[in-house]
Amino acid sequence: MRRPLDAARSSHILCAGAPPARTHGAPDRGEHPLSPEYDVIVAGAGPVGLFGALRLAQQGASVLLLEAGDRLGTLSKASTFHPSTLDLLDEAGVAEELLEQGVIVDEIQWRNLDGQTIARISFSVLVGQTKFPFRLHAEQTLLTPILLRELEALDSVDVRFSARCDRVEQDSDTVTATFSGQGGEQRATAKFLLAADGSHSEIRKQLGIDFPGSSYASRALRVVTREDLRDALPGLAGIAYVRDARQSCSLLHMRDHWRFIFRVAGKSSDDEVLDPVAVRELIDTVVPGVSIDFAEVYSNRAHVAETYTSGRVALAGDAAHVTTTAGGMNMNCGLHDAYAMARAIADVLGGAPSETFEEAAAARRSVVKDVIIPGTESRAAGSEGDAEALAKALASIEELAGDPQRSLEFLYQASMLDTAPSLGVAR
Ligand SMILES: Cc1cc2nc3c(=O)[nH]c(=O)nc-3n(C[C@H](O)[C@H](O)[C@H](O)COP(=O)(O)OP(=O)(O)OC[C@H]3O[C@@H](n4cnc5c(N)ncnc54)[C@H](O)[C@@H]3O)c2cc1C
Repeated sequence: MRRPLDAARSSHILCAGAPPARTHGAPDRGEHPLSPEYDVIVAGAGPVGLFGALRLAQQGASVLLLEAGDRLGTLSKASTFHPSTLDLLDEAGVAEELLEQGVIVDEIQWRNLDGQTIARISFSVLVGQTKFPFRLHAEQTLLTPILLRELEALDSVDVRFSARCDRVEQDSDTVTATFSGQGGEQRATAKFLLAADGSHSEIRKQLGIDFPGSSYASRALRVVTREDLRDALPGLAGIAYVRDARQSCSLLHMRDHWRFIFRVAGKSSDDEVLDPVAVRELIDTVVPGVSIDFAEVYSNRAHVAETYTSGRVALAGDAAHVTTTAGGMNMNCGLHDAYAMARAIADVLGGAPSETFEEAAAARRSVVKDVIIPGTESRAAGSEGDAEALAKALASIEELAGDPQRSLEFLYQASMLDTAPSLGVAR
């Protein structure tokens, strides 16, 4: 257990000249001056940048958060918060509000197309391992406004929208960000910079950090219905993996809809995959006649930055890694990065050796490269319709669902409790 930060250390970290926080999420119009110096600049107000900024501020750092867009992102992307992530969000004081807005899922099922449940594992096996023995289905766009509101309530945080970080320069003690926006070009200096500027990260490119990886052969087709699938499939859990030689898919219960996720051939064009007749046929194999609200297709790829740090800059979230959406881990992993890097930076600002920063980043990189990517790939095995692989995967799932210890190990990993940073720094 780590020692809580004391008040003296917190005030040591704070910049004397930190400006008051803005009180709304509208574009910044340059109505108040920038502080000449911050402890940390965070680039990107996606879930990872926002959470990193909040954790830094909660540990006493003054933060400038730069977001290129004129408001928070609204795209529907990540939908799952794993128990390990809820623990971290809880430590930041933002889990409860998110829980109220999502769907609590306390069981995973594997089913066939005849409506039979082949195996089920209850999240109750995680009792004692986490405060939240369930997964939460909620859009990431429900979390980001909560984080922004918390940040805007803090005097030590300055949030700037329409502020694209264009250039990063550093010396041995500081890092300077040049950003453009409605107020013209501006510069700010800090002791560290957390680059959470997404998978196309300009900062990563500027630093010359490679982002090797590749696309998976299959893509994901997401189909949404507002009907309650439990009417057609009684006893359906909030997350169910349909595994059947005829057709496999995942079913996810969201607050106001259900999602079907199918794997489709990577070489098919969007038009082919989204052809309404083809989508109807696919859906009818699982729940005949259910209404379809919309369908979309997206690619799956895995890339990991060659290093997560360069000098006083650390990459986090999609800027550092992208992985397959199977298992719903990429944003969760990014939030874990944010938590771990915020703690490491706060520790260094508080007097810990500078290696703490590089070591924390290297540990986060190893999590993705050595655990998350190999793990999600092996868990997805058997969902592609290959009868032999399917039979093997189902036999193995049935066996582990019948064994409490193996069920615990499975859910511990699927919930990312094995790779999450440890809790324990006071808010
Ligand atoms: C369809 C889909 C489904 C997904 N489902 C899941 C799931 O179920 N579970 C899961 O864990 N993950 C999932 N993911 C992944 C998840 O959405 C991402 O991992 C997550 O959004 C990453 O957050 P981020 O903050 O790192 O990056 P982003 O959300 O990309 O945010 C980056 C922010 O930086 C800003 N920005 C960019 N450049 C600059 C700059 N130069 N200066 C300042 N700001 C800048 C952008 O405007 C943006 O606001 C899914 C992704 C997709 C596409």
